[in-house]
Amino acid sequence: MTKKNSQPLRDNFDRNLTDLRISLTDQCNFRCSYCMPKEIFGKDYQFLSKKELLSFEEIKLLSNAFVNLGVEKLRLTGGEPLLRKNIPELIHDLKKFKTLKGENVEVTLTTNGFLLQQFTSSLKKSGLDRVTISLDALDENIFRRMIDRKYSPKIVLSGIDAAINEGLAVKVNMVVKKGVNHNQIIPMADYFRTRNIQLRFIEFMDVGNSNQWDSKHVLPSGEIVKLLNRKFGVAEVGRKTASEVAEVWSYSGGGTFGTISSVSKPFCKNCSRARLSSDGLLYTCLFSSSGYDLKKHIRGKSCSQSDREFIETKRSHVENIIKQIWEGRTDRYSEQRLTDKTNTHERKIEMSYIGG
Ligand code: SF4
Repeated sequence: MTKKNSQPLRDNFDRNLTDLRISLTDQCNFRCSYCMPKEIFGKDYQFLSKKELLSFEEIKLLSNAFVNLGVEKLRLTGGEPLLRKNIPELIHDLKKFKTLKGENVEVTLTTNGFLLQQFTSSLKKSGLDRVTISLDALDENIFRRMIDRKYSPKIVLSGIDAAINEGLAVKVNMVVKKGVNHNQIIPMADYFRTRNIQLRFIEFMDVGNSNQWDSKHVLPSGEIVKLLNRKFGVAEVGRKTASEVAEVWSYSGGGTFGTISSVSKPFCKNCSRARLSSDGLLYTCLFSSSGYDLKKHIRGKSCSQSDREFIETKRSHVENIIKQIWEGRTDRYSEQRLTDKTNTHERKIEMSYIGG
């Protein structure tokens, strides 16, 4: 085994690297306008080929390197990760890694919930720590408008029920797009509050270049909290740790909800997240224009190397690369957006490619 660094990495703004989001595929069965609009991601769109995707062995090798450098949470995402086969096996193997503190690494999954029901039992057995389901409306017409598919939200709700029944920890994320689904805030809050499931409201963000972002579609979290306070009565709980993306609130009748305010109250100063695309590029910000190709450093081996030698050598090599990249990191896009409205990157990576 390679010797672990004893201290987590720190970037130029003294931020640790503790969280890695791993995209397993760039494909999805929904076409949400804020992530994967069908006008761009239509039938002629060229998704990554199977050969281009990281294999599970490569994902494990890279995850191990990140964990050795201080990562404590691995979040599997997409596209839609459940479109990839044998995910429970991958989770089972990732759960074997220990953090620098000697604890089990946390492995979570973000999904649109469409295929969740059939996987809950194997996900539970794999050791998955939590599943986060994206759901933007209970109303069928609004749900269909948000995902641009003729599916019913009942499919997702059944997946959530199955996950709860299986004993999986569950959170639900709702992207709020003013003028499209903001009238779902109260019904969604009420539905999940009474089931004691934490719903997190996410401000509509300018991720990628294809989601037609306009600030007029942003409903600031402060407005959402006011709405919920009028209806249910709420109190601030705060963040569990400084690097958590969500601020947590409690309802006066019990239960909690979260707000993720990337636009109105950016949290870059504590951002501890790196992202790995499904073809092996490392991104240090959701709004990055380019990533660093880690795959080229781990793919292929000479005939003289044993598997173990190969893995050890490559992992150590890639750890040095990640270390250099993180230590040179200066990302703080959302903070800059707040102070300089003209500050937009010419080209940003699409959320469907690296996960939210
Ligand atoms: S904008 Fe980039 S640096 Fe800021 S919180 Fe989001 S991912 Fe982190």
